[in-house]
Amino acid sequence: MKADVLQFTPDNFIIFTSNRIKMDVGKNLLKLKNRLPENVKLVAVSKTKPVEIIMEAYNTGHRIFGENKVQDMTAKYEKLPKDIQWHFIGHLQTNKVRFIAPFVTLIHAVDSLKLLMNINKEAEKNNRIIPCLMQFHIATESTKFGMDLEEAKQLLESEEYRQMKNIRLAGVMGMATFTDDINQQKQEFGMLKNIFDVLKSNYFAGSPGFIEISMGMSDDWQVAIEQGSTMVRIGSSIFGAWN
Ligand SMILES: *Cc1c(COP(=O)(O)O)cnc(C)c1O
Repeated sequence: MKADVLQFTPDNFIIFTSNRIKMDVGKNLLKLKNRLPENVKLVAVSKTKPVEIIMEAYNTGHRIFGENKVQDMTAKYEKLPKDIQWHFIGHLQTNKVRFIAPFVTLIHAVDSLKLLMNINKEAEKNNRIIPCLMQFHIATESTKFGMDLEEAKQLLESEEYRQMKNIRLAGVMGMATFTDDINQQKQEFGMLKNIFDVLKSNYFAGSPGFIEISMGMSDDWQVAIEQGSTMVRIGSSIFGAWN
């Protein structure tokens, strides 16, 4: 449909714009997937997007979606097909774990022992083992969350962690500084890859399930993959800008 054949009355303007969004989301997603190496998983970050738009992505066959607000993810889980794998990618408050514990597929951003203990407790209540990633602070911005290597070691050596039966640590996650400087992005993603390697050899040598490095977003995923990402979290270049 060409824009120039349309009369922009209020009614068909709505039809025109919603068709346009519809076509783009599926197309954007498939184009992006074609560019990803086979071993790199895509988390389509659908935060702030309504269920109708998410269905456009779902209808291409995609099943992994990421949300960063507990309330939104729970509401979307209830409305959307049950074969969607929901990844929680945002900062998770301890007292909200119980809302997502029944269905979440992967929690990306574990940044404290206290949070992990709570996830373990809620997972147990649901008779599940919940896979989690440890979030590391690799950016220069102090606003971003995450542990450093020392804190992670303390967590992994704690008695509390040893006792946990209902979580499984599957790898690491991080966000680079918001910058155009590719060398800085490289350096920060490289740091996360290095942290992963250190943890893998010191704590997870016998754990084939410790495999994920979740890094890379719309503006820096190529650099992240170069540096060893196994999972990219991409929103705006699939769904358009956040509103
Ligand atoms: C929003 C968000 C993303 C996706 O960001 P885009 O730049 O829109 O691709 C990835 N990870 C986290 C943690 C986010 O909050």
